[in-house]
Amino acid sequence: MAHKICENCGEFNSSSAVYCYNCNSSLRDVKKKEDAIEPIKFSGKSVGYNYSEDVTLGEWIIILILLAIPIVNIIVLVLLAFVWNNTSINNFGKASLILGIIGIVIFFLLRGCSGY
Ligand SMILES: [Zn+2]
Repeated sequence: MAHKICENCGEFNSSSAVYCYNCNSSLRDVKKKEDAIEPIKFSGKSVGYNYSEDVTLGEWIIILILLAIPIVNIIVLVLLAFVWNNTSINNFGKASLILGIIGIVIFFLLRGCSGY
C-alpha cells in the first residue's frame, strides 16, 4: 500500500488523499511512498524496515556503538547521512558530519595560531 506523509504534521494519509485529514494542508506536492517490505540489512542483521520514519532503540544502539569506533565512525556517518533510507537518521548523520568538520577547522585554526 502506498501512502503520503503530510509535510506539515507528519500524518499518514492514503495515496489518493489531496488534503491531510489531520491538519487539512495540501498533499498535492507530497510524493507517494511505497510501504517497502525490504528490511535494511546491516552486517547481515536486519535492523529495521525502510518504510519506517521512526528509528528503533536497537538501531540507535548499533549506530552509537559504531560511532564510538574511530575512523569507522566517519564511514558510518557518511552512510547514515546519504545512504540510510530514513530522514531522521539522514539528518543526524549530516548534523554530525557538519559539526565534525567545524571541529576539525577550529582545531587547525587554533593550532595555526598558537604554534610558531
Ligand atoms: Zn497534516
